[in-house]
Amino acid sequence: MQDRELPLADPWFVTRHVSDGVTLITEPHVHPLLRCNVWHVQGRDRDLVIDTALGLAPLAHLVEHEVGHSLLAVATHSHSDHVGGMSEFADRAIHRIEAPDLTAPMDTTLVAEVYGETVLGPYRDAGYDIPEVFVDAVPVPGMAMVGQIPAAPVTRLLDDGDIVDTGDRAFEVLHLPGHSPGSIGLWEAATGILFSGDAVYDGPLLDELEGSDIDDYVKTMERLRDLPVTVVHGGHEASFGRDRLVEICADYLSRRAT
Ligand SMILES: [Zn+2]
Repeated sequence: MQDRELPLADPWFVTRHVSDGVTLITEPHVHPLLRCNVWHVQGRDRDLVIDTALGLAPLAHLVEHEVGHSLLAVATHSHSDHVGGMSEFADRAIHRIEAPDLTAPMDTTLVAEVYGETVLGPYRDAGYDIPEVFVDAVPVPGMAMVGQIPAAPVTRLLDDGDIVDTGDRAFEVLHLPGHSPGSIGLWEAATGILFSGDAVYDGPLLDELEGSDIDDYVKTMERLRDLPVTVVHGGHEASFGRDRLVEICADYLSRRAT
């Protein structure tokens, strides 16, 4: 892919303070289908970065606010739109099942047709425009539309029930398979905040990808429906509260539960 006259966007990432210690970092020039929400949680002893986007531009400098303050990058799952920046961080975590995916470089593409109908179909059905490429600007001149994400072997394996803590906040790992086998959420019981990755967000949910499992997804939706959340910060799209979560789960279950 060359000769594309896409404009330059600088800055590439947009940062928005969301709530106490939680900041959203996102890429406005990436199509919603690949626009991953990067969540930065500032903690007393350690910060968390939850998902790391596509790796199109350096991310770590946006969250490294104190020299020596430790930082853990947690990938909610290994899809390329969530792990592109993992190699920028020294401390990396993902669910045990998907850890092998990060041990070798991963091919990525911004060319829509490569994604196929299991990805594009649900978005098209929901009324999204599907452009030829999934960016309408570039962070550097002449950026290629295909690339490779560096290997980023994790330093910590996560399992359901593990606690990821910042010193003053504790997030429980919820294993939420269905979209992918090792999808996780991070659940802060004290506040009702759920970082849900692609297990649930307020947009077309993908359950027919390689590695997806609808039976697992049904169980995940039943689990999420019963969680006393105050806010869900998903892997894509805008955040939402408990009423909307219950609606999304009910809608999914009415379509997929037998
Ligand atoms: Zn995904």
